[in-house]
Amino acid sequence: MNIKNCRRCGKMFNVVGDEMICPDCKRALEDDFQRVKKFVQDNKTATIPEIVEECKVEQKQIKQWIREERLQFSDESPIKISCEICGTQIATGRFCDKCKKESANNLGNSIKRPEEPKIEPAKNSQHGVIMHTFK
Ligand SMILES: [Zn+2]
Ligand SMILES: [Zn+2]
Repeated sequence: MNIKNCRRCGKMFNVVGDEMICPDCKRALEDDFQRVKKFVQDNKTATIPEIVEECKVEQKQIKQWIREERLQFSDESPIKISCEICGTQIATGRFCDKCKKESANNLGNSIKRPEEPKIEPAKNSQHGVIMHTFK
């Protein structure tokens, strides 16, 4: 059994997966999210401070939803976020399409099996220095 302190309310709760918040907070957050989502849909030109004020949700939380690509803003919205790599303005998420593609490529490269390290033959063996210390 895995017990953690909820990141949001501090209450101890039983962790089933890798969640950081307790089931109560999860439900409350989901309510918040639905409220924000609806508000943004009804008020396409709302700014973040307006959403904070109207929905009683922390700005930090709103930004997190944007980064998680859960919250999307229409083209009319004054809320713009920039790609974390090149700074291009995007509607949601963390990276623009270009950087997303590039980082996917990089990821592919790093997954590729690294080359076997070449074992250099000991060059100084003629000096007769042999290390016995590690076995
Ligand atoms: Zn909680
Ligand atoms: Zn970018």
